[in-house]
Amino acid sequence: MPSRKFADGEVVRGRWPGSSLYFEVEVLSHDSKSQLYTVKYKDGTELELKESDIKPLTSFKQRKSGSTSSSPSRRRGSRGSRGSRGSRSRSRSRSPGRPRKSSSQSSRRSASASHNVDIKEMRKEVLEVKLTPLVLKPFGNSITRYNGEPEHRERNAIPHKNTQEQFPLSQESSYISTQYSLRPRREEIKLKEIDSEEENIVLKGTTLSRTLEVTATQTKDLEFGGVPGVFLIMLGLPAFLFLLLLLCRQREPSLLNFPPPLPALYDLWETRVFGVYLLWFFVQALFYLLPIGKVVEGTPLTDGRRLKYRLNGFYAFLLTSAAVGACLFWGVELYYVYRHFLQLALAALVFSVGLSVYLYVRALRVPRAELAPASSGNAIYDFYIGRELNPRIGTFDLKYFCELRPGLIGWVVINLVMLLAEMKLQNRATPSLAMVLVNSFQLLYVVDALWNEEAVLTTMDIIHDGFGFMLAFGDLVWVPFIYSFQAFYLVHHPNEVSWLAASLIVAVKLCGYVIFRCANAQKNAFRKNPTDPRLAHLKTIHTSTGKSLLVSGWWGLVRHPNYLGDLIMALAWSLPCGFNHILPYFYVIYFTALLVHREARDERQCRRKYGAAWAEYCRRVPYRIVPGVY
Ligand code: NDP
Repeated sequence: MPSRKFADGEVVRGRWPGSSLYFEVEVLSHDSKSQLYTVKYKDGTELELKESDIKPLTSFKQRKSGSTSSSPSRRRGSRGSRGSRGSRSRSRSRSPGRPRKSSSQSSRRSASASHNVDIKEMRKEVLEVKLTPLVLKPFGNSITRYNGEPEHRERNAIPHKNTQEQFPLSQESSYISTQYSLRPRREEIKLKEIDSEEENIVLKGTTLSRTLEVTATQTKDLEFGGVPGVFLIMLGLPAFLFLLLLLCRQREPSLLNFPPPLPALYDLWETRVFGVYLLWFFVQALFYLLPIGKVVEGTPLTDGRRLKYRLNGFYAFLLTSAAVGACLFWGVELYYVYRHFLQLALAALVFSVGLSVYLYVRALRVPRAELAPASSGNAIYDFYIGRELNPRIGTFDLKYFCELRPGLIGWVVINLVMLLAEMKLQNRATPSLAMVLVNSFQLLYVVDALWNEEAVLTTMDIIHDGFGFMLAFGDLVWVPFIYSFQAFYLVHHPNEVSWLAASLIVAVKLCGYVIFRCANAQKNAFRKNPTDPRLAHLKTIHTSTGKSLLVSGWWGLVRHPNYLGDLIMALAWSLPCGFNHILPYFYVIYFTALLVHREARDERQCRRKYGAAWAEYCRRVPYRIVPGVY
């Protein structure tokens, strides 16, 4: 059995992963199996290091004050104290970004010059640290593992060529990679705080501020066609939504009857309906606040914090079902929702615009660290994409709440209303088979989303996009009023479906659902525990962030098997409406466009995050959504 060199409790120097820097650490334990030492830095960081990355204290020559650092943050300071600034004596002078106060111009110039050198060194060091292969235990504590493995080691497969040269990680990529590396980000935040203090003293607007850009959370890559694009989307989408609803109400919707008769504005607005909408929203908010359901932590934020989220969406759904059941039992006229469908859509639109304004205004005051990575600093763009990442009122998380509650559960209730409206308007004793299919397919989709609510915490909506018009309108207006489109269509355009056709449609739906659920479950299980024995047969590529990518199983079929399943399901939702009109297929067309665009966004982010490993993944799995086609 191999012996260990360092004892528990021994104070030694440990290499900071990815750099050549050594800091004072205490040995906490040693794993004889992996031959790794768990060590603790003076600032509390715990890492697992190989023996070769640990040196006895005696092997280092002691320097004078300021040069014998004991934590990465201090080490930065010690670098700053080298060179022309070696004579500084106060401990605060450890910060590399801090210039000396000098009375003379010459010493000011030399301070600035040495400062620039230090900034360069510091930037290099920060980037080095950011590129280290750290593994954050998923959904667990902050112990990280550095195992000295090369950039993208692979499991269950022959080694492959490192494509790092063809795909160098940009500064941006290294920034994103630190989302999974708590410690370095904390260091950066500290560094930023110290630096901004110092900026006010002497060097406002110089090298220092440029350094801060390296770690800035806002993006310059505007998506959705940039400012003009989002401006048009914000004006166009609501108008398009009403156009679709009006078209759907027409007996013979066609280009010949275009445009559909437009209702008078006062027919679209009714304050009471707005009150009903508010009631719905706040009842859902009440359900969200109920102390039932488990509390989990989200992915680490840039400052290392992990927000807590209560998973009670499924309970909210059950409570809503009970409330709707009670309404039906006591004869409450749910047909009201159908009669005021357009007014309700307008009420939801007005509410979502009001919410977006509130979100934008409050986001103007939040610290930089709380801005969404997708935000840009441009007012119009940020109003759309969302400026603040996780707007909360106390513990009430506005974005997380809106993602899965009022809109998604509202969609199911609207579908039920359409089923009742169909029976009423078409004088049916029972709903049509087509309506039953649409209702049950979409019910399954919503229940699945609520049952697997935790998965939303790792989506780009939560970790990348802010909460602005895009998600407020999408979650509160588009989902309930457009996703229920097939049911709305069937109220006005009945379609009889044979049992044979129904069986085929069910088969399509199940096929889509199996792909969708299995692919999502496989990725979620892997993200939760990459060493899950049930996934041991899958091939993976190790990445520089410490996370791995699945390269076989569902994720070896195409790069977004879950999107493929979702699209097949979308088709199954439209098929019960028959082939008389393209309108019920609007959802499939729109959803294809949405997922193709979303895939491109995700692809860009993954390329930044994973660099060479992502390039290798794309090489191994060339198709994005549909095998052999796209
Ligand atoms: P995904 O669930 O596909 O997640 C993409 C992320 O998964 C990547 O950013 C990456 O994140 C990780 N990943 C990618 N490839 C791999 C791999 N090979 N191995 C391991 N991890 C990988 O994206 P979405 O959040 O867009 O979608 C979630 C679900 O929601 C999907 O099923 C989608 O169809 C559905 N959806 C539905 C919508 C609707 O309106 N009905 C709208 C949008 C989505 P990381 O590495 O950081 O973990």
